[in-house]
Amino acid sequence: SQRPTLQYVTVLGSTGSIGNSTLDVIERHPDRYRVYALTAHTSKETLLAQCRKHQPHVAVLNDPVDAQWLHDALTKAGVATEVQAGPEALCRVARDAQVDTVMAAIVGAAGLLPALAAAEAGKRLLLANKEALVMSGALFMDAIARSGATLLPIDSEHNAIYQCLPAQHRGGLARHGVRQLLLTASGGPFRTWSAEDIARVTPEQACAHPNWSMGRKISVDSATLMNKGLELIEACWLFDATPEQIQVVVHPQSVIHSMAAYDDGSVIAQLGNPDMRTPIAYGLAWPERIDAGVETLDIFQVARLDFEAPDETRFPCLRLAREAMKMGGAAPAILNAANEVAVDAFLEGQLGFSSIADVVAEVMALTFEARADTLEQILAADKWAREQALLRIQR
Ligand code: NAD
Ligand code: MG
Repeated sequence: SQRPTLQYVTVLGSTGSIGNSTLDVIERHPDRYRVYALTAHTSKETLLAQCRKHQPHVAVLNDPVDAQWLHDALTKAGVATEVQAGPEALCRVARDAQVDTVMAAIVGAAGLLPALAAAEAGKRLLLANKEALVMSGALFMDAIARSGATLLPIDSEHNAIYQCLPAQHRGGLARHGVRQLLLTASGGPFRTWSAEDIARVTPEQACAHPNWSMGRKISVDSATLMNKGLELIEACWLFDATPEQIQVVVHPQSVIHSMAAYDDGSVIAQLGNPDMRTPIAYGLAWPERIDAGVETLDIFQVARLDFEAPDETRFPCLRLAREAMKMGGAAPAILNAANEVAVDAFLEGQLGFSSIADVVAEVMALTFEARADTLEQILAADKWAREQALLRIQR
């Protein structure tokens, strides 16, 4: 058989949950993938271990002092990786001419500029960083179209929908006979809890997800259902869908990762064990398929699949996100920024769990007609919303 061509991969956010899973898949296929660059915010020890193993050309840390430490440690270990520091270095390793594929796995708005750099440079872009697309949807999809980049969604639901749609699905769902997208949600750890109990949730409880092991921010988002709200916005941009065309379905087993419903009555679903290595391997190998290290789903062990409607009274964040998408412009960026600040404050013990939604709603209520035609407008809206959220938290 033909030997696959080597792909050089930059992993943005390599020390996180998605970053680690990405390196796990890459390691299984040394004939296909080489690591070009690895990046982390502050986890220098983990990045050192990753560099020793994968010998990337470049490693990036935020702080120059950390970068000097990593440089010295790598020199001592006889590893030739070049170490760079700062946010601009993230963009450089995303757009470098030697790079074929970029995994965007930084969490939050911090990942926007490097993801956009990869989009503009026409890379194969594996997008886990949903906040980037939520903030800048129109601009981002435009950059993809102009550069000819290949955008492959890594969020498990969007990866599932991508697999359930025809290969060419741009130009609106209706054109392809798709009536609706069914976006599945686990419902989070507090799905069955009363509003009173939800109000007293601690960070430890919120970070213990029943089906997925993830970073702390997305774990909290999953518990408030803001994650599903961000994913609804993400799906609108990825699949040219309106919020009305997307039905959120709570499916506690997280075995069906999402579905597409067609005009002829067919509903196509993608199933699998809840393991992010499946969508990551799909993105790396597309249109081929490779081993991801994931066991085949044991359908007899699953035995049953349950579905219920989401409760937007106990979990208002889903409704807030849908409203932000309908408002358009910078409203999703404002929603996202207020949420990031509120989740941080919750994780720091400065804000109650139920107040996350309150802070987001209050900041959203201040917004009208904020445009998002340029990156400057988006970043200004993000900054403004962070300030407004902080004011409300400190009050
Ligand atoms: P994580 O917290 O485990 O990892 C985040 C990574 O980003 C780390 O490598 C960290 O060093 C880096 N980082 C954090 N802040 C940064 C900053 N300011 N500048 C540069 N780098 C920074 O997060 P995760 O769970 O891996 O999630 C990453 C992204 O993928 C998120 O956008 C999340 O929504 C999305 N996602 C995650 C999962 C999952 O299962 N974990 C599933 C779907 C989507
Ligand atoms: Mg998801």
